[in-house]
Amino acid sequence: MIMNSLKKTLFISDLHLDENNPEIAYMFELWIKNTSPSTTEAIYILGDLFEAWIGDDDLTPFHDRMIKAIRSVTDKGIPVYLMHGNRDFLLGNAFLQQTGCRLLRDPSNIQLYQQSVLVMHGDTLCTRDVGYLKARKWLRNTFLQRLFLLLPLNIRKKIAARMRKASQQHTRSVPMEMMDVTQQEVARMMKEHHVSLLIHGHTHHQGIHRFQLDDHTVSRIVLGAWHHQGSILVCDETGTCELMELTKV
Ligand code: MN
Repeated sequence: MIMNSLKKTLFISDLHLDENNPEIAYMFELWIKNTSPSTTEAIYILGDLFEAWIGDDDLTPFHDRMIKAIRSVTDKGIPVYLMHGNRDFLLGNAFLQQTGCRLLRDPSNIQLYQQSVLVMHGDTLCTRDVGYLKARKWLRNTFLQRLFLLLPLNIRKKIAARMRKASQQHTRSVPMEMMDVTQQEVARMMKEHHVSLLIHGHTHHQGIHRFQLDDHTVSRIVLGAWHHQGSILVCDETGTCELMELTKV
């Protein structure tokens, strides 16, 4: 009589939480608060949880609400693993402590039931976008990040706004296919990490792709962005992974 009693592991990314988009934030808050340890093994957040993050000291009432929502699940004993995205890579130790999240390096090999799986945010798979990858090297330099975090909040806000503008202009100026992953890099990473499943976000092109890699059928799952609805990848111990949608309440 026990139906659907398998515990699930959940993957999300690209929520781009922002106080200017209160409906998505509310949907996330309700969803994560209602996640139960009897059905959920772990939650993986694979980057871009927030639209922007300029330091853990930017404690707005909105950020505080999101932190409390995440804390409510880690308090219940559900592990939440967090990976940085290209927008929230400054999420730091204070945030991790407040939420109880554990930081995951990008890329990481994780054990998903019987399977070794590679998880990434996905921006480094877009190797055609040379300009962005060059900028990324500077943005991820820990020394420069430490200097940036020493600046007063209002100056950081101004710099971040300017960088967002430049990034939007860049996105508009490069063709769409340049912003997607390259099959070559996907294959290279999967071989290097000896996996037959890769899960990533970033491109917002939600879907499950199966292809041949050295005579094996392998899969790449792309998580969806939370623009008009939520998108969650649900995996269980039988090896089944399914993309589910979450609609606004
Ligand atoms: Mn991204």
